[in-house]
Amino acid sequence: MGHAYTTTLADIIARYHRLRDVETYLLVGADENTEKVVRAAEAAGKGTQEYLDGIVRGFQDLFSKLEIDYDQFIRTSDNGVHWPGAMEIWRRMVRSGDIEKRTYSGLYCVGHESFITEKDLVDGKCPEHNEEPQKVSEENYFFKLSKYSKRIEEKIKSDELAIIPHARKNEILALIARGLEDISFSRPAEKMSVGIPVPDDPTQKIYVWGDALANYASALGFGRENDELFKKFWPADLHVIGKDILRFHAAIWPGMLMSAGLPLPKSILVHGFITSGGKKMSKSLGNVIDPNALIAEYGAEAVRYYLARHISPFEDGDMTQESFKGAYNADLANGLGNLVSRVLKMAVTNGVSIEEEKLNQNISSAPELAHMESYEVNKAGSAIWGRIQKMDQYIQVEQPFKKIKADLEGAKKDIRYLLAELYAVVALLRPIMPETSKTILDLVRKNKMPESPLFPRK
Ligand SMILES: [Zn+2]
Repeated sequence: MGHAYTTTLADIIARYHRLRDVETYLLVGADENTEKVVRAAEAAGKGTQEYLDGIVRGFQDLFSKLEIDYDQFIRTSDNGVHWPGAMEIWRRMVRSGDIEKRTYSGLYCVGHESFITEKDLVDGKCPEHNEEPQKVSEENYFFKLSKYSKRIEEKIKSDELAIIPHARKNEILALIARGLEDISFSRPAEKMSVGIPVPDDPTQKIYVWGDALANYASALGFGRENDELFKKFWPADLHVIGKDILRFHAAIWPGMLMSAGLPLPKSILVHGFITSGGKKMSKSLGNVIDPNALIAEYGAEAVRYYLARHISPFEDGDMTQESFKGAYNADLANGLGNLVSRVLKMAVTNGVSIEEEKLNQNISSAPELAHMESYEVNKAGSAIWGRIQKMDQYIQVEQPFKKIKADLEGAKKDIRYLLAELYAVVALLRPIMPETSKTILDLVRKNKMPESPLFPRK
């Protein structure tokens, strides 16, 4: 659900900008070079690549069901696309004098994919993963991140690198104020069965974040012969991430880019977690909500709708089977779906139609979508549904279906107004519910009633 949320949110933002004629490139992908993957593949009795292919197919399948209109899906195991860029960033960091070989001794938690400290342990175990960390002493290349603390802090304070929302900006600034430490950026090759070899030292492989974060540049061709996309689209306007990876994106990644002499992304939108019934989704609690199952039951547009309208991108959100069903019935079956049927029924019965409104113009000037500029997709959703409710109220007050007998011209005027409002709603819905928007537009154009309810009651 977390992945579905991040990606749907990014897709809505990208669609909104495309509709405003902003040239847009939406990158999604999978971070694959991790020891967790190797262990999971072993547990599943599969080869690493076979296992990864299965995981990636699962994501691509989900993204396609969710109508994610991405331009590229990057896989960090792709040595043709991703590796040259990651290696070029590494080489540049070496040239800046920021990569240094040190001996590292510490406690390594495989679940965390990182070293953890003694004081994090409970009864000698990592409390999060309930396993004993491995005592490790090894040669690592370190990235001298501490050197960039001050500069990263300045970029974030000044919003040159905007961290959204404000609470997350404060959180990362507090963390940076305590001082950023140099971090291990490679591990011995024999301990990593996957991963990118360190340039000029095959005994080491680039370690998780040095590899994964580079994808934003490598995807666009950085480090490859054809880097036109990189020249055109870098720096990225926006990264969309979950709050658990804030530190990596707002501290390590800017540090890497500064070291490599590359511009920083302009902003990072940090969303919260989706809980269920106020609790973290977990198999043992039995409260895990599978987006695939929701899509099968309610359709992808309903899932996009719920994520957009009922989960705040700025805070933790909650969803249960009940809250989803409740929102579906109230807002989609009884709300939008019913409204479309009522308006079109009146229009068709009385032979009323209107010229198509200019939909893109509506997108640019609509106050409902002003919230999209600050990425508050949920507020945009509420504002759109406010407009839908106003249409319902209009029908209740004016009662055009009754007016017809006494005042045909008055009734037709009401219906024309309602059709114009439907065009407006179609335009507003496009980023959030692209298919529903198309369906309604088609019905209004053809002056046709839907053959079956757009959103059957559940
Ligand atoms: Zn752990």
